[in-house]
Amino acid sequence: MSREIPTAAPTHEKPYDNCSVVGVYSHSTDVVDTAYQGLVESNHRGQEGSGIVVGSKSRFAIQKDSGLAEIVFGVKHSLPRVKRAYVAIGHNRYSTSGSIAETQPFLEDGIAIAHNGNLTNITTLREKYNLPETIEGASSDTRMALAVINRMEGDEIHRIVTALPQFEGAYSFVFATKKGLVAARDPKGFRPLSLGKLKGGDGYVVASETSAFNSMGAEFVRDVMPGETLLISKEGLQTLALHKESQLAQCIFELIYIARPDSVVFGIPVMEFRKRQGAILARHLPPNIDVIMPVPRSGISASLGVAADHVSRGSTIEYSEGLYTNPYRGKRDGPRTFIRPSDRRIAATKKYSVIESEVRGKRIALVDDSIVRGSIEIIVQKLRDAGAIEVHLLVASPPLKHACYMGVDFGDNELIANQYPNQEERARKLGLDSLYHLSYAELMEAALGNPVSKRIQNPATLFEEHGYCGACFTGRYPISIEGVIKKIS
Ligand code: SF4
Repeated sequence: MSREIPTAAPTHEKPYDNCSVVGVYSHSTDVVDTAYQGLVESNHRGQEGSGIVVGSKSRFAIQKDSGLAEIVFGVKHSLPRVKRAYVAIGHNRYSTSGSIAETQPFLEDGIAIAHNGNLTNITTLREKYNLPETIEGASSDTRMALAVINRMEGDEIHRIVTALPQFEGAYSFVFATKKGLVAARDPKGFRPLSLGKLKGGDGYVVASETSAFNSMGAEFVRDVMPGETLLISKEGLQTLALHKESQLAQCIFELIYIARPDSVVFGIPVMEFRKRQGAILARHLPPNIDVIMPVPRSGISASLGVAADHVSRGSTIEYSEGLYTNPYRGKRDGPRTFIRPSDRRIAATKKYSVIESEVRGKRIALVDDSIVRGSIEIIVQKLRDAGAIEVHLLVASPPLKHACYMGVDFGDNELIANQYPNQEERARKLGLDSLYHLSYAELMEAALGNPVSKRIQNPATLFEEHGYCGACFTGRYPISIEGVIKKIS
């Protein structure tokens, strides 16, 4: 779903994806509860709202509201129900503003829709089909996409299949119809979407990430292919369309930060990828380091990779989690809380607590997945206040410099790499003794599991040459962004 960038910056320091989707088709399983279980395990991708549509041959029911899935369906409401239900879809929403009316799924004329991604040509489609600015209070790309679909001729499935080739940008869609569950991924494969089979049941599930499958009682079958429109019905699985593109653009940030470490994304186990990032960072560890320390929680997987590499070489450098974050702070409002930059420092100060015994008198190598706007400065100061004698930072990705138009928000109007383009100046600004970022080639090495060819002439083309999008680092966008308003959710 999409919206213009807000004027105030969110508190979060990390990139945020804009949603997760789940879908279930089964005649022998409680499809609503299975969808709910999937949403609970997908809440890391969006905490602002949650919704489920459930359907049978003759009826649909919908329930959605603001908050985490467990709040929406365990506190505010019960699960929506219809008799003899066999299809359900669900959605977790990330948004930094916007009304509750934008919460998904949307339901109209026998089709329910849930979407992860960002459509970049919705303004053109709105004009082409003479659609209103808002429909029942919603103006997002997803709501307009459903309206476009329902301008097509024929039954539900035909309308979906006819409309999909008109959408540009990033999409992983799930649709509930009385004929069955439809899952579709854009031809460049920006966002993940995986298919699972219910264990001991007769049905299938789809989810943004495979980490949802365990609680859904499903096992991984395969990814929905980029460009594939897949129907799951009583006839089983049927690929309705497959629009292949020569150039994939899978979002590398899914692997770096967004996905859970227990997911397999784009065929890569996320934890293995992040430990490989760490092993590569270990080559750049400054001399005489006493302790390797993750920034909680985003730096843990990569820092384990740094530490494991050193243990394997007989090093005695300690690994310690000397920073503590209260997991209960900020859960009431989540990332929806908007604060002034001056207040952000206070929020970050409260967020991190230092375990002094792990820090005093030590030379510390901090590890984090990415640096967005530089709140790490507060952590560095806290470590120094607690007696650290050196603080170095190893970052498991290149500097973030460009906006994302494909559905990830990292508050790019305040990116520290743009404010301080010189790396030494940036390190000084953050109070660091040294700063190292993975290069483009090293990041691709972590994805591929092998060093990239040394013959590559232009490192900025590495991502596209290997089927990934890395535009937030390189500025080389895999789609036309001309005239696209910056959208963040
Ligand atoms: Fe992912 Fe960055 Fe590309 Fe956006 S610009 S899709 S965050 S790699």
